[in-house]
Amino acid sequence: MICIDSHSHSTFSDGNNSINEMVEAARRKGLNIMALTDHFQCPIVDRIVGFEKALTINNLKKYLRVIEAAKVIRGVKVLKGLEVEYISKAEEEITEIVKKANIDFALGCVHTLKGLAVDYTEEEFKKNMLSHGSMKGFYIGYYEQLSSAIRSGIFDSVAHLDLIKIFNKENKYFDEKEEEYVNAVEGCLDTIKKKSVCVELNTSGFDKPVGVQYPSKWIIERCFTAGIDLTIGSDAHNTKSLGNHRVEAEKLLKDVGFSRIAYFENRKKKYEEVK
Ligand SMILES: [Zn+2]
Ligand SMILES: [Zn+2]
Repeated sequence: MICIDSHSHSTFSDGNNSINEMVEAARRKGLNIMALTDHFQCPIVDRIVGFEKALTINNLKKYLRVIEAAKVIRGVKVLKGLEVEYISKAEEEITEIVKKANIDFALGCVHTLKGLAVDYTEEEFKKNMLSHGSMKGFYIGYYEQLSSAIRSGIFDSVAHLDLIKIFNKENKYFDEKEEEYVNAVEGCLDTIKKKSVCVELNTSGFDKPVGVQYPSKWIIERCFTAGIDLTIGSDAHNTKSLGNHRVEAEKLLKDVGFSRIAYFENRKKKYEEVK
């Protein structure tokens, strides 16, 4: 059984449980390694929808101190992570903050494009699509922004790579097999490979409208072929979801051929075998 969860949230951002409660749940659920990765949003940018509760530079130190303290009491390896929203115009500032933050793990993500959320509500997803002129324009824009995030060199792993499919149950908005979509994903994977960044297997997708993990199996297969390592995360926002869907994840990893999962400690990549 996989005993790592490198993506979780606490009340320091939009999670429902305290860091101590999350760590206690990890212990109960048999996790050996967990990373808290609360949302972080760069201070020079106006608050975006869904990020009202994100960490800022003002409470970052306290957040890291609380994780450090939880590490001592519980006997689980608790890692200090951040899920950082990549914003092009704030790249320099984000780079500096992440470099100086003394964290274990920097998880990069794109939840917003043109000031609108990708994954907040389906209503807003549609608005975002319209603002891009078409679904094609929307997903190409999304993967371009994600590629810029990876090129920045700020991050260790990419969170929920194909988040853009969140409302795409039964190909409601696009077909993942269409040439332009495959090209957009592959362009992004090329950048990931070049920058030696990991891709996250995010199991929260199972509980989202699309009903399946991020990224899709064909993308995980391409990662395997390209020699891109995976990190794993439940993206839990409460104790109940922590470490969820590990059975499905393990089956998927074995099916594809992965025998190990990466995680980050002190920004260095380490591995655990998938047994
Ligand atoms: Zn996220
Ligand atoms: Zn998250």
